[in-house]
Amino acid sequence: MPKCPKCGEEINELKYVADEIHEYAFYLDNTMPDKAPDKARYEETDMWTGDWQVWKCPLCDAELFHNEQEAIEFLKPKAKQATLHVEG
Ligand SMILES: [Zn+2]
Repeated sequence: MPKCPKCGEEINELKYVADEIHEYAFYLDNTMPDKAPDKARYEETDMWTGDWQVWKCPLCDAELFHNEQEAIEFLKPKAKQATLHVEG
C-alpha cells in the first residue's frame, strides 16, 4: 500500500476536492399557488469541473497531487521489482 509522503501512513485512497460549476434553470413554480405562490425553483441543467482540483491524504489532509495521472500512479499497486526477470 502506498504511504503518504507527509504523514507516513499507509493509504489506499485519496480525498478528491474540486471546484464544480453548476448551471440551473431558475423559474417560479406556481403549481401550488395557495400554499407556495411564486416559489423560486432551481433545476440543474449542467455541471462541470472547474480549474482547481486537488488530491489529498485522507488522514493528514496534505495536498499531494494536482492532476489525476499522478494520483493514479500513486495508488497503483507497485509492480514487484523484477528480480526474477525471465527472458522470452
Ligand atoms: Zn498523510
